[in-house]
Amino acid sequence: MQDVVRVTVVGAGVVGCATALQIKEKLLNATVSIVAAHTSPDTTSNVAAGMVMCPLIPDTPLSSQRQWFRDTFSHFLRLINDHHAGVRLINGYQLYNSTQDEVPFWGGDVFGFRAITDKELAMFPGCSHGFHLTTLQCDVATYLAYLMLRLNALGVNIIEKHLSDLFELEGQADVVVLCTGVGSAHLISDPDLYPVRGQIVNVYAPGIHSFVRIGDGMTHIYPGAGGMVTLGGIKAVGDGDLRVRDSETRDILTRCFTVMPFLKNVIGDSKNDKFAIKDEKRNSLCDSGCTKNTWGRDRETGWRIGVGLRPFRKQLRLDRLWLRGSQGKRMRLVTCYGHGGGGISLHWGSATEAADRVLDWAHDPEGKGVQDAWPANRIPAKL
Ligand code: FAD
Repeated sequence: MQDVVRVTVVGAGVVGCATALQIKEKLLNATVSIVAAHTSPDTTSNVAAGMVMCPLIPDTPLSSQRQWFRDTFSHFLRLINDHHAGVRLINGYQLYNSTQDEVPFWGGDVFGFRAITDKELAMFPGCSHGFHLTTLQCDVATYLAYLMLRLNALGVNIIEKHLSDLFELEGQADVVVLCTGVGSAHLISDPDLYPVRGQIVNVYAPGIHSFVRIGDGMTHIYPGAGGMVTLGGIKAVGDGDLRVRDSETRDILTRCFTVMPFLKNVIGDSKNDKFAIKDEKRNSLCDSGCTKNTWGRDRETGWRIGVGLRPFRKQLRLDRLWLRGSQGKRMRLVTCYGHGGGGISLHWGSATEAADRVLDWAHDPEGKGVQDAWPANRIPAKL
């Protein structure tokens, strides 16, 4: 364990919190802290509907994604009886409107995965086939609060601070773990990371108990806590604009009403949505690593609108690296980012692996043969 006694995790979304917790549980004598520009409810994770079902990350080994999904599913399943964790079972439909779509890679890991009957299909105009299943869902704000409690109990410190450069942590940490989602692009040079903008509409429809997800989840209806239902969505590749777009709200509502025509009749009044919005910021753009989400109200209906940036990368970056600075400075680094549209579904399993990479540093602090990486603003000319 020589040399690795102080670990700093950067990021307090689901990935950062789960990673810090598992590091502390594995390295009991280490001082573990979290540094994050924003904590719950202001992270991208907080915009997610918390469904445990996700798209495939193209160049990441399928076996790894299956393992991360299974580990996360088992972790959540252990928590369903603890109401502080905000996890519950939920059933519904994964539907397709073309014959090309395949069985999702996690089909065998959820409960009761079966082809739907013609009678069920008749409820969803425009869909050609699909599956019925039971999976898990977490209320992300409740779940993050639960993780924070566990972190506090283990003595993990959480510091709210925006970092412009990871070397700001020099002298404070023996290993730095990067769990900064889309904000990673501002801290480490990585041409492969990009935002995929998402927008959702929260309506009050307590009569909807089953979810509906079309294809890769672009259109979805996800019931959540307190009778609120998340309608989505938007997947705008490379778009880092956090402003609420009214035209997209209309598009989401139109698509959801097409898939589930009776939805229109069961939506209640927006005054039933008791969620207060702290700072409506219709004019925020994602710049200099701002990964904060946006919450606003639809001008026409009053419904709550959320915007967040999914951290997309062909390969989820789970690496042990030397971060090289100027004048021969170097820093031990572990990366865990690039979860795209599946960070809730994969977070616990990928965090387990990230914690193992920290253990690798503990067992091999000299890290001979470990690859180099550079801060975003300091890429050597030869690269
Ligand atoms: P984040 O939650 O973005 O956390 C990043 C952390 O890093 C924050 O604390 C931030 O402040 C910090 N940070 C960033 N830059 C810096 C810096 N320079 N200095 C200090 N701190 C910094 N996934 C699912 O599995 N199921 C779903 O149902 C689902 N629904 C979604 C719906 C929408 C609309 C969106 C946008 C995403 C959805 N996702 C879903 C995807 C999921 O939300 C993400 O994959 C996940 O939140 C990524 O988590 P993270 O912890 O890596 O990043």
